[in-house]
Amino acid sequence: MPPPRRFSRITVFIGLTLVYFLAGKLGLRLAFLHASASPVWPPAGIALGALLVLGYRTWPAIFLGAFLVNATTAGNFGTSVAIAAGNTLEALCGAWLVNRFASGTRVFERSQDVFKFAFAALASTLISPSIGVTSLALVGFADWARYGPVWTTWWLGDATGDLIFAPVVILWAMKPRWRWHGKKDLEIGLLFVLLLALGEAVFGGWFPISANNYPIAFICGPVLIWVAFRMSQRETATGIFILSAIAIWGTLHNFGPFVLKTENQSLLILQGSTAVLTVTAMALAAGMAERRRAQADLERQKALVEAANQTKNNFLAMLSHELRTPLTPVLLGVETLQKHWPQSAEVDSALEIIRRNINVESRLIDDLLDLTRISKGKLDLRLRSLDVHEEILNVVETCRSESAAKKIRVQLSLHASDHHVAADEARFQQIIWNLLKNAIKFSLEEGEVTISSANESSGQLTICVRDHGIGIEPQTIETIFDPFEQGERSFKRRFGGLGLGLAISKSLAEAHGASLIGKSEGLNRGATFFLTMKTVAPDSSAASLPRLEKRSPLGTVRILLVDDHVDTCAVMEKLLLARGHTVTVAHDMKSALEKAHIAPFDLLISDVGLPDGSGMELMAKLSANSRLLGIAMSGFGTNADIQKSLEAGFSQHLVKPVTMEGLDAAVEAVANGRIEHEIRSGP
Ligand code: ADP
Repeated sequence: MPPPRRFSRITVFIGLTLVYFLAGKLGLRLAFLHASASPVWPPAGIALGALLVLGYRTWPAIFLGAFLVNATTAGNFGTSVAIAAGNTLEALCGAWLVNRFASGTRVFERSQDVFKFAFAALASTLISPSIGVTSLALVGFADWARYGPVWTTWWLGDATGDLIFAPVVILWAMKPRWRWHGKKDLEIGLLFVLLLALGEAVFGGWFPISANNYPIAFICGPVLIWVAFRMSQRETATGIFILSAIAIWGTLHNFGPFVLKTENQSLLILQGSTAVLTVTAMALAAGMAERRRAQADLERQKALVEAANQTKNNFLAMLSHELRTPLTPVLLGVETLQKHWPQSAEVDSALEIIRRNINVESRLIDDLLDLTRISKGKLDLRLRSLDVHEEILNVVETCRSESAAKKIRVQLSLHASDHHVAADEARFQQIIWNLLKNAIKFSLEEGEVTISSANESSGQLTICVRDHGIGIEPQTIETIFDPFEQGERSFKRRFGGLGLGLAISKSLAEAHGASLIGKSEGLNRGATFFLTMKTVAPDSSAASLPRLEKRSPLGTVRILLVDDHVDTCAVMEKLLLARGHTVTVAHDMKSALEKAHIAPFDLLISDVGLPDGSGMELMAKLSANSRLLGIAMSGFGTNADIQKSLEAGFSQHLVKPVTMEGLDAAVEAVANGRIEHEIRSGP
């Protein structure tokens, strides 16, 4: 992309002609072998840079500049025209090659383009010496006998001119502004001072060492590499340019390592090594820039992926919350029907099927919620000393109907002598339940599943769940712990589930400081999962904890029930009325406040999220003037959620889907004046 045009065409034309002319005159002051052939030829780089940045149409300025340089040097009108034509053609050819094969003005952005640029410079500069020296020799201004050395000097002067000066021209023209970047610029400043000092030490004559002509040019290398490594391509090209200027001046004054028999030889060798250094450093700088771009790209991609993941998590949290809400009235309704429907085996079994399936549904939703809680780091564990064997027995009991349905024998081999661990009871059971449920699900009919425990080393307990079922392919075993991962077979044969059980179990295990790994010998060769945890001493106080005393029968409680989910409200109202309470229903905060003004209440049961406010706000407002007890209902049940409810004045926090049992217990606890919080969630 050409830089924005700030100068008129004519100004650019005159400016370019003048710059070319002055640079040419300067270059020819170093022409020792022949008046027209200099080993240092900046105009070649200026012309190439100008054609690339400003376009091919600027060629007349180069032609005129070159003509004026030569017309005021040696030869006649004809040779000056021929040489100017050679110079212009060479620049046009070089620019075409760079545009065609090396990305034009973006040539220094990729290291492979830098190498192509070097080839373009070496190839295109064959033109000018061929035309120039031949035309001079034809009319007698050059000796045919010295054609070779003059041609070589001319070619090397032009080629190194392209390599050393064009990068400075192109990079500054494309990005002329220099902005202060604080620390980075201080580093640039420091590096340039260092480069200046080293350049002067080696070539410049500041220090006596440069008069000795030791071959120590290499000591400038590390600083240049440093510049290329840390700074942009523009700074690298500029650094080399400064070093080159010092080196040319020093060499002409007999300082530095490149002083040879003749000045021409010295300059040729000097320019040659500077050109090689330029290509190396520019390729390195371009490579570093590529790396920085790739890194920035990666960062951008990472941010995008993280944002998408966050959106997915938010969506899952929203979705599972919303999916849970309608389950409450259905579950409550089914429970009522089971209790009050006239006894009939057919209806009983139908209701049981409904209840069971709602439980399965809510389990799936719970998994989704668990996943979002884990990914948001919102998992709360209430650790206590658990007897692992007791917990395993409980889980086996829970899975009895599933194992019985497939006639699977569940064998227990619980031989660990040290079998207490610090864990959250519900979460620990969830891990074992997931493993056992999978073992049963992936076993063949009449198969066998073994759960064993062992202390492989002191203070460590390993629980092992083994089956002889369909097994896992080696390439899948690594991924089955990823969320939603169900292996290849999920496409071939459905076993049900969302592919979350193992992901959740692994995260839960890690949250307990435990490890969960899976092994399988391959397809149809069964699978074994190992849960390894640290053991703790049994908690003697747990055994002496008082059992919940039988609750006293309740009197009538005046309840204000607030939930924007109309069905939930309707079913709950019916059930609470059936228990002898008086119930007033509201579906938003405004009408709840109005109803509370008309009549007093003993208890507020409110959903946390209301259309025009929150349950917390409602509780705070209502309990400000009267002594009101409260039960909050929410889809979320972390410590933070419960804390918020308690701070707002609720005594209980129920997690949806709310069962009648949970609601009964909460109402009873509140009515009995027990204001410590309890969490009751669905099955
Ligand atoms: P789900 O069981 O819902 O698919 P999980 O996360 O529990 O999700 O399991 C993920 C996948 O791991 C399963 O789909 C299955 O391919 C594989 N897997 C888990 N346990 C076993 C097992 N005992 N035998 C064979 N494959 C298993």
